[in-house]
Amino acid sequence: MAGMATTYSRAERAARARAAATQLAADGIDGVVFGWVDNAGLTRVKSVPLGQLEHAAEYGVGAVPCFDVSLVDDSFTTAPSSTGPVGDLRLVPDLDRLTPLAAQPGWAWAPADRYTQGGAPHPGCQRRFARQVTETVERRGLSMRAGIEVEWVVADTTGAPATFGPGYGMTRFVEHSDYLREVLRALTAQGLAVLQLHPEYAAGQFEVSVAAEGPVEAADTTMLVRHTIRAVSARHGLRVSYAPVFTEGSVGNGAHLHLSLWRQGRNLGHGGPGPHGLHPDAEQFFAGVLAELPALLALGAPSAASYLRLVPSRFAGAYRCWGLENREAALRLITGSTAGQANAELKCFDAAANPYLVVGGVLAAGLAGLECGLPLPPETPSDPVALFAAERLPASLPEAVDAFEKSALLRQALGSELYEAVLAVRRAEAELFAGRTDADVVEAVRWRY
Ligand code: GLU
Ligand code: MG
Repeated sequence: MAGMATTYSRAERAARARAAATQLAADGIDGVVFGWVDNAGLTRVKSVPLGQLEHAAEYGVGAVPCFDVSLVDDSFTTAPSSTGPVGDLRLVPDLDRLTPLAAQPGWAWAPADRYTQGGAPHPGCQRRFARQVTETVERRGLSMRAGIEVEWVVADTTGAPATFGPGYGMTRFVEHSDYLREVLRALTAQGLAVLQLHPEYAAGQFEVSVAAEGPVEAADTTMLVRHTIRAVSARHGLRVSYAPVFTEGSVGNGAHLHLSLWRQGRNLGHGGPGPHGLHPDAEQFFAGVLAELPALLALGAPSAASYLRLVPSRFAGAYRCWGLENREAALRLITGSTAGQANAELKCFDAAANPYLVVGGVLAAGLAGLECGLPLPPETPSDPVALFAAERLPASLPEAVDAFEKSALLRQALGSELYEAVLAVRRAEAELFAGRTDADVVEAVRWRY
């Protein structure tokens, strides 16, 4: 199973890398790029030539620990565990997810876990955190299926949106027919199960969705999807932005998390006695997520720009509530056409987020809901914007950081090293953008994610 790299010993990893390298060489691959996502939400990479894959799988490749506290502008802050320029971590590729890159011929990709030099898992490793929480869920006889939608804006070399055709419009689909076909082919060739590809609402915006899988796998997949879209775009002379907002005052790029809870092959979001077929476990799980949502925003909407996206009437889910097919609720319940498709969509998250922190945080919150048997609040069946009692989610990064600081649950789930590093990065970014105009904030992060 992908996501289980830590269960392999060094010797096993080396043996697996040897076998993989033989196959990759036969496939004409020259090098392997290792991806991971930092606490600011930026995807970082290192690569090795194929001849070094075995050594890299066995011992990892060096990674400076200060990237635990890197900000969106590539500056650094400090956390209690920071060692500044001193020390080293090891990036270890998960060979279960090794993928030749269709749009970067000669390259393969793998997500990486971060280890200490001594070979122990790094407590600040976000992927490890997601895996640990997943394992806790599984020990309770439950499992979660997750999928993350990817929205992006394509721009021309001047930085302007590369199409102004109408939202969901045939115009932009036809204008970019070859580009979209190559996106589809590349994702499919890499073994990704694409469900839909369509023009989105904002100028230059498109969206792809992929099938649900395990939480760590879903986070890996979203990193690979974004990497691939960027590579295809580069081949077409196009630039890509996954920033929460591309054009000030307009609809932004979300990274909605779809999730369903399962027990013994049964979707707990279908056929139960609760509202719309929810089983009690699913009700309590979603109640737990809603209860923690303001603090979870520090993980899922981590940028100052996130709050320029997370506003009412943009389908971004700016209200702390749930409702069947309610696209203004942070939690949109979807019954789907079949039992397996029933799921909840958390709309309030965006692509500035580290997807491993998001799935891990959401799972931890849901589990807490289950543990205390938290009741699901009443449904919000209409647009919350018109409801006097509707509760807005935090409207700024500092507000979300305040909620995160008060969250004993997330502090405990993340572990102190990871929690403190995330907190330090959020505080530092809040300070970085304090007093800046909205236009400035949008501009500063437009090309960073
Ligand atoms: N682009 C919207 C967002 O910022 C979402 C549109 C939709 O897919 O409902 O989340
Ligand atoms: Mg969308």
